[in-house]
Amino acid sequence: MRPTGRLHLGNYVGALENWVHLQDDYENYHLVADWHTLTTDYEHTRQIPGNILEMVTDWIAAGIDPEKSPIFVQSSVKAHAELYLLLNMIVAKGRLERNPTLKDQVRDLELEDAVTAGHLTYPVLQAADIMMYKGEVVPVGEDQLPHIEVTRELARRFNNLYAPDAPVFPEPEGLLTRFPRLQGLDGRRMSKSLGNTILLADSPDEISAKLRKAVTDPQKVRKNDPGRPDVCLVFGYHQKFNEAETAEIRSGCESGALGCVDCKRRCAERIVEHLTPIHERRRDLEAHPARVIEVIAEGNRRANEVAALTMSEVHAAMGFGV
Ligand code: AMP
Repeated sequence: MRPTGRLHLGNYVGALENWVHLQDDYENYHLVADWHTLTTDYEHTRQIPGNILEMVTDWIAAGIDPEKSPIFVQSSVKAHAELYLLLNMIVAKGRLERNPTLKDQVRDLELEDAVTAGHLTYPVLQAADIMMYKGEVVPVGEDQLPHIEVTRELARRFNNLYAPDAPVFPEPEGLLTRFPRLQGLDGRRMSKSLGNTILLADSPDEISAKLRKAVTDPQKVRKNDPGRPDVCLVFGYHQKFNEAETAEIRSGCESGALGCVDCKRRCAERIVEHLTPIHERRRDLEAHPARVIEVIAEGNRRANEVAALTMSEVHAAMGFGV
C-alpha cells in the first residue's frame, strides 16, 4: 500500500482486513510502498515519513501482527530498485501503456501528457516488490489485478530467459475480498484523491456526519418512496458491516417503510461498532509511537535478509558477478 496517510474503508475491506485474516495461514510480507507515492505526487516528499507512521499505525490497529508478518518500507530495501531496473529491461513499453489503471488515473487526475516514466513503469516496481519475496498470493482490491497480470508475465519472462531449468520466481495470483471495489460517499470508487472517503480513524460523529451526506438512490426522494438497494452505496456498506440485517434493510428500502435517514443511522452505528476495537488499539499505539518505529526497523531488517537471498539467485541466473 502507498503511504498516503490514514487509510479509508476501501483500503480496509478491499485489502487490509484480508491481510489480517491471511496472516495465520501464509507467510505475509507487508510493504509500505513509499517510492510508489512519487508516481503521482513527486512534488511532496516531506510528508512521506509522517504518512508512513500513520499508515503503519492503522495496519497494526487493524490487527496485523508484525512478529508474524514483517512490516517494512520499500525505500529501506534498496534491492527493490535493482530488481525494478532489471525487470524494466525485459518489459515492452507498449505493454505498460495498455495498463487500464494508468488510463483511469490519467483521466481522474487529468494528467494527459504529464505522465512520468516512473508512473508508466510503476507496475514494474510493483512486480519487483512482489517477486522479491517470491509472492504466490497478492491480496489486493480490484484495481490492482492488471498489475498482478504484469507481474505474472514478468516472472514467466524472467524464468524463461534466465532460469528455464530452475525457475526463480513463482507466478503470483491476485486474491480479492468480497468487496474488491468499495464505493465512496459519492458513489464513485472510494479513493483519497476523490475526497469521498470514510477513514478508518474517523470518530463516531465524523462517520455519522459523513454518512448523512452519502448519495443514495436518486429515485427515492421522500421517506416512503420505494428505493433500489442495489444502486445505493449505503446498502453496500450494510452488506459489509451489517450482514445480519441486510434482508430486513432490503425489504424496508424496497417497500418504502425504511427511510434513508434511519437506514444511514443504522449503517453508521454498525460501522462504528466494527471500528471501535481498531480505534482502541490505535489510541494505545499513538501513546507509544516508538513502538511503531521499532516494528518498522525490525521489518526492514527481515525484509533485507530475504531480498539479499533473492537477489543472489537473480545474479546467479543472469550470470552477474565474477
Ligand atoms: P492504494 O492506496 O492505491 O495503495 O491501495 C491500497 C490497497 O487498497 C490496494 O490493494 C487497493 O486495491 C485497495 N483499495 C483502494 N481503494 C479501494 C476501494 N475503494 N475498494 C476496495 N479496495 C480498495
